[in-house]
Amino acid sequence: MASQRTLILVKADAVVRGLVGELLSRFEKRGYQIIALKMLHVDEARAKRHYAEHEGKPFFAGLVEYITGSPIIALVVAGSDAIEGARATIGATNPIKATPGTIRGDYGQTIGRNLVHGSDSPASAEREISIWFEPSEIFARPNEIGAWLVDA
Ligand code: UDP
Ligand code: MG
Repeated sequence: MASQRTLILVKADAVVRGLVGELLSRFEKRGYQIIALKMLHVDEARAKRHYAEHEGKPFFAGLVEYITGSPIIALVVAGSDAIEGARATIGATNPIKATPGTIRGDYGQTIGRNLVHGSDSPASAEREISIWFEPSEIFARPNEIGAWLVDA
């Protein structure tokens, strides 16, 4: 067990459908702490940087179009083994294969509109966090938030 940070995107389909609160709530209820959060319109350069590993694949152009087409929410959540844990909460990439109870298994139908992104490894998490957030926009370490709760 290690404390980790991971980059989560609430993608455009989820924002348009009014699922932001519901989806953020799932991470919070699981015990992950939101340590950075913003809503933004994504330009093509940032979209391509974020999804660089998929450049050249048949779905890449559609993926960039999807992520740049309408505002999204970016956040960093932190907690114990948060990278793998958040991906388990999100569910399999294709919602048809995602277990009911996961975000994609409960709210998704198609792979091209699968609601949420979560980093897939420690290296990806740090690379992706730096694409979406300045260090000064990341509010606190989990233990700092925990200390605040205990003292209150
Ligand atoms: N994607 C798609 N078609 C595919 C594979 C992926 O539209 O055949 C999209 C989908 O939105 C997915 C994203 O590309 O979430 C990134 O793919 P990846 O394999 O990294 O899945 P994830 O890590 O999001 O589960
Ligand atoms: Mg991925």
